[in-house]
Amino acid sequence: MGLVQFCRKKSPWLLHFDTGGCNGCSIEVVAALTPRHDIERFGMLVKGTPRHADILVVTGPVTKQCLPRLLRIYEQMPEPKMVAAVGSCPATNGAFDRCYGVVGPLDKHLPVGAYVPGCPPKPEAIIHGLIAALAKVK
Ligand code: SF4
Repeated sequence: MGLVQFCRKKSPWLLHFDTGGCNGCSIEVVAALTPRHDIERFGMLVKGTPRHADILVVTGPVTKQCLPRLLRIYEQMPEPKMVAAVGSCPATNGAFDRCYGVVGPLDKHLPVGAYVPGCPPKPEAIIHGLIAALAKVK
């Protein structure tokens, strides 16, 4: 196994993409990054570019407006890559189900490797879901 691949498995970098939900899940993702929950102790780091990301963390319902951007971001991520659906919205459309602009759920468009249920899920659940996603990347 190459050194770069080994490091990516041990220390995945995350890209958070919010499709425009109520922001509840986004706030919980941010809480997971704070020193109180400290997601970095698992080697996870949030990056601002898909070209450096291993796990795409999606919050909010998939809408017509965000779908092309979401697909483009996914395409720009290097292999192996993983998608994590955080909250009910990306998994089932949640509270936005049957809204005119909603074209989800997320797994209709991208291969989702981990689901974190909740509306919103707690930071502990988000960390648990991302660790499960990491196991699949391995
Ligand atoms: S799952 Fe709930 S908290 Fe999260 S974005 Fe959707 S409505 Fe908001």
